[in-house]
Amino acid sequence: MKKILVIGSLNLDMTVQVDHTPVVGETILSNKMEMNAGGKGANQACALGKLGADVIMLGAVGRDMYADIQMDSLNKAGVDTTRVIVKDEVSTGIALITVNRDGDNSIIVVSGANATLSKQDIDDNLDVIKESDIVIFQLEVPLETVCYAAGIAKKMGKMVILDPAPVPKNFPDELYHHVDIIKPNETELGMLTGVDNPEEHLEKAAACLRKKGVKDVIVTLGEKGVYLDDKISGAERIPAMKVQAVDTTAAGDSFTAALAIMLAEGKGLREAAIFANYVSAIVVTRKGAQSSIPTLEEVKRYIE
Ligand code: ADP
Repeated sequence: MKKILVIGSLNLDMTVQVDHTPVVGETILSNKMEMNAGGKGANQACALGKLGADVIMLGAVGRDMYADIQMDSLNKAGVDTTRVIVKDEVSTGIALITVNRDGDNSIIVVSGANATLSKQDIDDNLDVIKESDIVIFQLEVPLETVCYAAGIAKKMGKMVILDPAPVPKNFPDELYHHVDIIKPNETELGMLTGVDNPEEHLEKAAACLRKKGVKDVIVTLGEKGVYLDDKISGAERIPAMKVQAVDTTAAGDSFTAALAIMLAEGKGLREAAIFANYVSAIVVTRKGAQSSIPTLEEVKRYIE
């Protein structure tokens, strides 16, 4: 089986239910808080593990109980966590999320150990890049580390997939040259290309990314499915499954993971996107992040 490496963030999500979002200077009470493993990198690794991939995670956590919760979730999903670096003097990344009675949320992310993932950490783990076939990145760890590691992966002939979230202000053009497949959502596509209302101009926006050096572009459009601009089969829209969505957390992350696992099996981008659509459709019908991701058996049952 081909090996997939995820280089990225690991967070602990603390979700607090509140009546209303507090304003400056206000203290409010809540009687419900949940702690869940999250972070885009870890969500993608977890999804890959649950879907049966041979997956290894490279990232950083602190020496604390938050890391234990995250490691437990990844290990249970079958992810190789031996390259998750434990750093002293920083905490594990934490997302403090308040959800008010209208379901609107506000989020503070404490990057913690994620912000310390360095070029040196990449150099210390070159062997695992070498042993992998596909390397997946997101942008919740330092941009210069992502650029550096993606450059190395590309030079080693690996397939490089980038989920460009969150889009930084100074997205470096150099990074596009290291990327085979980029998977923005609609908002990220607009931010990366400067194209207004990208859903109406998908072809133009995708062409813009190709011109910068990316091979294939796949844009997720939420309930509207995906847009695929594949070097081989051309441009196409694939509709989403009709489901009753209750929580879209991790929809994009599980999509990226599902795409990668199919590509690892030698499938084309179109077939991979159709499979990913099924996986994400299941994710949005369940509450939570990593806990909402289905196993391969569940996906197979759903497709039948
Ligand atoms: P992100 O979470 O990165 O913003 P999207 O919201 O675009 O990503 O969703 C990713 C994928 O999840 C979509 O391309 C689609 O396959 C699936 N999806 C998201 N929302 C829905 C929905 N309401 N119904 C069915 N599928 C959905």
